[in-house]
Amino acid sequence: MWPVWGGVLGGVLGSFLSCAIYRIPRGISLRQPPSQCPHCHTVLRVPELVPVLSWLALQGKCRHCRVAIPYRTLLLEIGCVAAGGWLVWALLP
Ligand SMILES: [Zn+2]
Repeated sequence: MWPVWGGVLGGVLGSFLSCAIYRIPRGISLRQPPSQCPHCHTVLRVPELVPVLSWLALQGKCRHCRVAIPYRTLLLEIGCVAAGGWLVWALLP
């Protein structure tokens, strides 16, 4: 069960990293504004912030304007989920 929690934590970290990768080079604060579509600026609702699952549920497009969400976002989050799960699995006795 612990590797699942490691995966969840990895997904949260991956979502944050995705946000940071987008915002830091553009000089945008990590705290404000809240997460939003970079195209139409619609603020994301809580279900749209769930790593991996939200991308899949929205079929990789913004809920409002239907602009594509980059695959790299999904791949980064999946990678972090896998890394978090693997780390916990490998480190726990
Ligand atoms: Zn949009």
